[in-house]
Amino acid sequence: MKIIDGRSLAKEIKSELKRETQKFIKQGGKTPHLAAVLVGDDGASQAYVRNKIKSCERVGFESTLIKKKSTIQEDELLEIVDGLNKNEDIDGFIVQLPLPDHIDESKVTLAIDPVKDVDGFHPMNLGRMVIGLPCYIPATPLGMITMMERYNIKTEGKNVVVLGRSNIVGTPISILLSQKTKWGNATVTLCHSRTKDLVSEVQRADIIIAAIGIPRFVTSDMVKEGAVVIDVGINRIDAPDTKKGYKLVGDVDFDEVAAKASYITPVPGGVGQMTVTSLLMNTLKAARGEIYPGG
Ligand code: NDP
Repeated sequence: MKIIDGRSLAKEIKSELKRETQKFIKQGGKTPHLAAVLVGDDGASQAYVRNKIKSCERVGFESTLIKKKSTIQEDELLEIVDGLNKNEDIDGFIVQLPLPDHIDESKVTLAIDPVKDVDGFHPMNLGRMVIGLPCYIPATPLGMITMMERYNIKTEGKNVVVLGRSNIVGTPISILLSQKTKWGNATVTLCHSRTKDLVSEVQRADIIIAAIGIPRFVTSDMVKEGAVVIDVGINRIDAPDTKKGYKLVGDVDFDEVAAKASYITPVPGGVGQMTVTSLLMNTLKAARGEIYPGG
């Protein structure tokens, strides 16, 4: 069994991005600039955004953080998005999800200029992704693909079972892995809460991607010997004996499953690390005008 070390891979990719950024600037390019909008005081969202901003600094990007109270009205948030769309110095930006209940997330996502949508959540980018046009691939799926490529995990002809069909993780990764590309050509089954006999679906998998948000849902009896296990889940569980009072676990029972898997990603230190790196990759692409030239 081999642990896929997201932390050291992310470090390696960030060093590469730093070098590429320096080269781009030397050749007359502008310093890539990412903005993040954070609404409310959800602990996890704050931590994610902090990490994204810090990572920008590490690779030599500029970053801007716009923090707003959870009482912000939808109109005001849409105005901020509009301002970022028009701000020529900002190459890409994200609005950290989830948003408070009184704000329509899809309205906000639709308001983001696809040219600056480095999270890849806008339907324009998702649509382009589906038909294989240049696009910003959503950060978490891009992170998983990069991870598998770097670890030389082949997907062609493999049975992949994806657990969870969210718009930001499960659905896009299932599409990407089934496409006729160097990272695709897999036979993909997408499971969700209405799947009949989910256990036997997972048991057939050469590659399991777990993205449902239930702590330690995937147990060793569900995993074929030698399967590759990619754990996207980030779940807080009570841990009264720790300083924070909680700890993070994935959707996979790591200790049990690791004994059977050929490769496995830990939580923390796995896919989450790669998500941030992918956001930076997309931001550099935005600054270079690679996806929407002249956009
Ligand atoms: P959502 O929470 O939006 O959706 C969960 C999905 O899981 C749904 O499709 C749901 O099915 C399915 N599901 C829920 N319960 C079951 C069940 N018992 N059996 C089968 N399917 C089930 O998913 P996200 O993709 O947003 O998040 C998933 C997890 O990944 C979370 O833990 C989240 O924190 C984490 N995450 C991690 C990221 C990273 O960078 N590592 C990035 C984004 C998310 P249905 O559609 O039928 O309701």
